[in-house]
Amino acid sequence: MRIRKGLDRRFIPRGYIPVEVKGLDGQFCEACGDGFWSLKSERKITQALTEHMAKEDARRIVASELASVAEAAKLLGVTRQAIHKMMNEGRLRYVQTPSLRLPIREFLEQAERKPWKAHRKPAARPSKRASSRSARVQAK
Ligand SMILES: [Zn+2]
Repeated sequence: MRIRKGLDRRFIPRGYIPVEVKGLDGQFCEACGDGFWSLKSERKITQALTEHMAKEDARRIVASELASVAEAAKLLGVTRQAIHKMMNEGRLRYVQTPSLRLPIREFLEQAERKPWKAHRKPAARPSKRASSRSARVQAK
């Protein structure tokens, strides 16, 4: 495995136009090219993909599929700040409008099934390899 830095990669979330994420680091096999991103880069990818999809979703998701931040906070039993943080980090899918971000209901329902608290203190630190799956954000 060889550490590589400053990589630019093109990602194509299923059903969306491609997005380029720049300045990524990771470790890759010199023979086959398989490898994984650094934790920091994984977060950057997740955030970039969520942001990218949020802009496109603004043109195709109908208003009834969206929730307000206040409503999302109430549904999940967390603060509004927590909802903003989840959106900032790409952990909650949302739609970007010119003035605000609105959580997508479908993804709130998923978050409800997996209570937020369960993610706060993981029993064991996930391996870099296992957590690399989280970078592959899938659209419906
Ligand atoms: Zn290999």
